[in-house]
Amino acid sequence: MKKDVIELDGAIGGGQVLRSALSLSMVTGRAFRIKQIRARRSRPGLLRQHLTAVMAAAEVCGAEISGAHLGSQALSFEPGEIRGGNFQFAIGTAGSCTLVLQTLLPALLQAPQASRVTISGGTHNPLAPPTDFLSRSWLPLLRRMGGNVELELLRHGFVPAGGGEIAVTVQPSRLTRLDVCERGEAISRQALALTAGLAPTVAQRELSQVAKRLNWFAEALQAVTLDPARGPGNVLLLEYVFEHVTEVFSAFGQVSLRAEKVADAAINQAADWLRSGAAVAEHLADQLLLPMALAGGGSFTTPRMTDHLRSNIEVIQLFLPVRIDCQEEGSDRLRIAVSQTH
Ligand code: ATP
Repeated sequence: MKKDVIELDGAIGGGQVLRSALSLSMVTGRAFRIKQIRARRSRPGLLRQHLTAVMAAAEVCGAEISGAHLGSQALSFEPGEIRGGNFQFAIGTAGSCTLVLQTLLPALLQAPQASRVTISGGTHNPLAPPTDFLSRSWLPLLRRMGGNVELELLRHGFVPAGGGEIAVTVQPSRLTRLDVCERGEAISRQALALTAGLAPTVAQRELSQVAKRLNWFAEALQAVTLDPARGPGNVLLLEYVFEHVTEVFSAFGQVSLRAEKVADAAINQAADWLRSGAAVAEHLADQLLLPMALAGGGSFTTPRMTDHLRSNIEVIQLFLPVRIDCQEEGSDRLRIAVSQTH
């Protein structure tokens, strides 16, 4: 290992601490060691999704690694040269494809050649960005920063069965500053209830609850029935298109959770964001930070500080010469500004 090895304590957060460190290590060429990976989670250490991210990152940049096995709570990663090309990664469980993809994207954008990557596993997972969130919300902002990335959902995959697949093409691109402090004018909104292998009443009840609580008309409500072989699975997605930002809120059907409660969970997240007046909601906030830091600058407003945002700030500042300022603007709007320190 080189002398300049960054030491990380994984207990400051969850899998995101590891994934951000992998992304940053690949693009900066700086090696890192991490201990206590996901130490505070009920099943600590590397799960399939995290291990796939580690192996995929190592393949993309020819890294030397140790400690990469299931359940491992310590890992060292010494990156080599980034290369583009064709890659295929299989998580092997319903672990989130989008989280693996987000780990690799910063490096693939800097690769000397274009890439096409397919990842199989879960495409619509609770506690991870659904593929629709990436394609409708996060990627359009990344594209505004100059990232040339196309994402295709080849097959839906839900927990617990998995079996979904996404494909992405990435052209080498340089990221530039982005500021999203205001949403701008409201343009449109849409509720999408996806079901696979479940009674059609599930989607109908979720959409009725949206209509009732939000007063949305029928044109904004859409039920999509997927191939039953992709199920069982259900997700309700609420999309809000504004002039400067599109947000996607999601909630997942679960055994013994009433469809109305699923709808309530998505509606409540959206209501919290709308009430705040902030441009981006909690999930988009922690996922925008790394591209902005790589671009060397940017800013956004978000309702509040979260654990993911805090730990991501910490990890980013270990690898990059950036300053991240957090300033309260009233009681429920926080402005995050990223700038270069030299
Ligand atoms: P663990 O917490 O078990 O270690 P993990 O590796 O799956 O889990 P986290 O560290 O929790 O990952 O990171 C999850 C990422 O997914 C975060 O960036 C978070 O903002 C994002 N995320 C979670 N739920 C959603 C959602 N509904 N929409 C968009 N993004 C989401």
